[in-house]
Amino acid sequence: MEAQVGIIGAGLAGLCCGLRLQEAGISFRIFEASDGVGGRARTDIVDGFLLDRGFQVLLTAYPEAQRVLDYEALQLRSFEPGALVRCGGKFHRFVDPWRRPQHVLSAALSPVASLTDKLRVARLRQRVRQGSLSAQMEQPESSTLGLLQHEGMSPRIVDRFFRPFLGGVFLDRDLGTSSRMFSFVFRMFAEGDAVLPATGMGAMAQQLSSMLAGGSVLLNSPVDSVAEGEIRLASGACWSPDAIVLACEAPAAAALLGESIPTEGQGVTCFYYAADAPPIEEPILVLNGDSSGPINNLCVPSQVASQYAPAGQSLISATVVGVVEDQQALEYDVRRQLRDWFGESVDGWRHLRSYRIPFALPSQRPPALSPVAKPARRDDGVFVCGDYLDTASIQGAMVSGRRAADQMIAALQS
Ligand SMILES: Cc1cc2nc3c(=O)[nH]c(=O)nc-3n(C[C@H](O)[C@H](O)[C@H](O)COP(=O)(O)OP(=O)(O)OC[C@H]3O[C@@H](n4cnc5c(N)ncnc54)[C@H](O)[C@@H]3O)c2cc1C
Repeated sequence: MEAQVGIIGAGLAGLCCGLRLQEAGISFRIFEASDGVGGRARTDIVDGFLLDRGFQVLLTAYPEAQRVLDYEALQLRSFEPGALVRCGGKFHRFVDPWRRPQHVLSAALSPVASLTDKLRVARLRQRVRQGSLSAQMEQPESSTLGLLQHEGMSPRIVDRFFRPFLGGVFLDRDLGTSSRMFSFVFRMFAEGDAVLPATGMGAMAQQLSSMLAGGSVLLNSPVDSVAEGEIRLASGACWSPDAIVLACEAPAAAALLGESIPTEGQGVTCFYYAADAPPIEEPILVLNGDSSGPINNLCVPSQVASQYAPAGQSLISATVVGVVEDQQALEYDVRRQLRDWFGESVDGWRHLRSYRIPFALPSQRPPALSPVAKPARRDDGVFVCGDYLDTASIQGAMVSGRRAADQMIAALQS
């Protein structure tokens, strides 16, 4: 098809949109403001450590990731299912006995949840796996907290497990996020593994970008405005393609379109440390099951994928939900909590870098901000994609990119 498409943004959504257009034989250019592809899923190399721009994981069950990514080439490394929950001054294992039957006894004795709670979790796990993903998104909706309460979960399991676990996934410790998002995420955790690519989360975008025709992604090319079919770059250059796709995060899309795309978001702060020895040997997520202290979750990425740290060293990632102005004071409190958890060896840890991300995820609180698939074509003919138009996730970003391309191909054909 003889058409030229301009895509703005080389995050996962923009790259997947380009990939689909390429499959259909449509030529395109992607304009990316920053110096690399991947948007919110990028990895920096600092002193030989791989630092994802905020701790995140790929869930192998994401259907769109399965479709577009070459998992084998990414050398995925899995987290141990379940978590270590810090409460009452100790770490307690909270496992899924269906996936790790050898831990069934410790699961039965865990102070994180009663047996009744665990049976309810098992029932919920079964329920969220039924029906199609799209049918799930049409289920009646409440907040996640409302759903957990409706399912009869005790305050103990909510506070010790669900709040830090889902708080870390949604970046929302109040659990006001849509119950549909909960069902989606819980299902994805149940049906696959939580993994890191061996060379960092940024490897996903690198792989997608390598599948695109050379020269189709233009880095360091911020777009200043989009109007009447024309893309105007900050450099002053203009281009009038046959169609335009905005693949920016919600606040940037709102700024370019000058109108009311919801821009509420969830923020996060991630601290990275280097240590001579790992504080936890296992590739497992650590959750803060006490309501005190700033850390929500922690892990040792180098115990998941050894490439995350130089030989003989360990990388520790501590996540705080939200952002504050005084980063220094926050780092002081984080280190104090780490010392409380792991002892004086923490004094020898080297602070590598912190990532303060005010808009990490679009808010998905019902009823206004449901994570349902939204149309890609706007009344003014501009197409849009990004995680704010689907589930706020890697899956949502990828599938919305393909959806925008498909709707555009249909429009161009007609
Ligand atoms: C800390 C953190 C933890 C997360 N954890 C998880 C997780 O565990 N699992 C999961 O599934 N998801 C997670 N996510 C969400 C996931 O990373 C995002 O949903 C996804 O990467 C969004 O992709 P996107 O393409 O929609 O947007 P983005 O990645 O934001 O891409 C938008 C791109 O547009 C570019 N852009 C913006 N304005 C302009 C302009 N004017 N001109 C040109 N380019 C422009 C930006 O530079 C950017 O590259 C997490 C996100 C963060 C930040």
